[in-house]
Amino acid sequence: MSATTATVHNFNAGPSILPKTVFEQASAAVLNFNNSGLSILEFGHRTPEFTAVMEEARSLVKELMALDDAHEVLFLHGGASTQFMQVPMNLLDAKDSAAYTDTDIWGYKAIKEAKFFGKVDVVCSSREKNYSFIPKDFAVPNDAKYLHITTNNTIYGTQWQKIPHCSNNLVADMSSDIFSRQMDFNKFDLIYAGAQKNMGPAGVNLVIVNKNILGKIKRPIPTMMDYRNHINEGSMLNTPPVFAVYVCLLTLRWLKSMGGVAAVEKGNNEKAALLYKAIDESEYFIGTAAKEDRSKMNVCFIMKDASREAGFLQLAKSAGIVGIKGHRTTGGFRASIYNAMPISSVQVLVDAMREFEKDNRP
Ligand SMILES: *Cc1c(COP(=O)(O)O)cnc(C)c1O
Repeated sequence: MSATTATVHNFNAGPSILPKTVFEQASAAVLNFNNSGLSILEFGHRTPEFTAVMEEARSLVKELMALDDAHEVLFLHGGASTQFMQVPMNLLDAKDSAAYTDTDIWGYKAIKEAKFFGKVDVVCSSREKNYSFIPKDFAVPNDAKYLHITTNNTIYGTQWQKIPHCSNNLVADMSSDIFSRQMDFNKFDLIYAGAQKNMGPAGVNLVIVNKNILGKIKRPIPTMMDYRNHINEGSMLNTPPVFAVYVCLLTLRWLKSMGGVAAVEKGNNEKAALLYKAIDESEYFIGTAAKEDRSKMNVCFIMKDASREAGFLQLAKSAGIVGIKGHRTTGGFRASIYNAMPISSVQVLVDAMREFEKDNRP
């Protein structure tokens, strides 16, 4: 068999690029998992082989994020959007209030879900300014049960460079920047992330929870929604998404082999710097996020003359670039440059931008 497809540079926002070695290993396991003669797709989740996969994935998350023993790692169904409801269901009684930051469509959706369970105090918002910046000056009421932030705003390309300091429990949606940068992750009491942006395929959700914050509310919680049941069963309360968890494990192994979060962070900084420099030097392209809040994962930009956008997309396509069309709510362009994206692909995009400028000079 010979591969005849040309090189494709995948800038999709999610599901998105994963390391090539992960695809190769995942493909091999679809045919023959662990030399068992069975496909991973037909493999029992209660077997010692799969239990080992789940345990290694959970312990690699702990290791790569340097989590302490109070923090439990779970792989759950339902995507990040289910966490919008599961978080308040577990942490918020009807009389309580929680503090939320409104910095993207995703945070906005999380607010809507939390209102089903308790009171929501929106402590800051950049909605009026098209979510182009991260609010800096805001106060969190002491009695708020937790503060919820979205660390990286996938659609508008902003990112919290400094995690707000507060005495409340801290909850973060890290769907689009998990494992991309170093932080003290033990500061967070609950972290969740849909896998399909930076750690695996769609269909599984990483949840990290400080077990000491659970069991403090009066509401009865349905079995599948109660984090404690998942912790007690080693993240195997029911059939987990076996294949998705396996592919996450392969990505986590890759991440460790690359030198861990610190090493990929360095690469992510270089990729983002290269692309933002091209935008800032350009007379055609304009970055849409406030400079100090720019995301290193999702780079959003527009063209001064919007009528030329289609022309640039055409040129990009011929260079093998896919997935740079902006979100349906924003227009323009968005280049997602997650962990697995090589800097050479970012260079191809930068070259295409420069070529377009040169060819279109008046
Ligand atoms: C993609 C995304 C979501 C939604 O994830 P689903 O898995 O589709 O529910 C939520 N939050 C952020 C920050 C995202 O990037």
